[in-house]
Amino acid sequence: MTKRDDDALRDKIGEMMAKGLVTQTEPFPEDNHQFELILQDLRKLDPQDLEQKLVISGFIDKPYGEDEQRCLECMYYLVHRKWCDLPELAVPVEAEWWCRLWRI
Ligand code: SF4
Repeated sequence: MTKRDDDALRDKIGEMMAKGLVTQTEPFPEDNHQFELILQDLRKLDPQDLEQKLVISGFIDKPYGEDEQRCLECMYYLVHRKWCDLPELAVPVEAEWWCRLWRI
């Protein structure tokens, strides 16, 4: 994907959330097993099914929780590309977004 493609897809995801897409922010995975179960659900999806990808991973367009977790501090965030590098997601993101696969 080119930078322009990334930007267009990031805008599209942002619009979906701005329009009120309800996603599954809870439960937050408490251990590796729970984390893996979410990944398994993501792997079952049609790779083109962007909406379900966002729903299952619990995407939101703002920091989350008392400690304001964000993509920016997540180990999967590629700062130069503004990209989520978790293979099961692999989407462009904003630094201020969050999903329940957040990890440091
Ligand atoms: S795993 Fe979630 S929190 Fe982490 S960079 Fe990807 S979308 Fe953001």
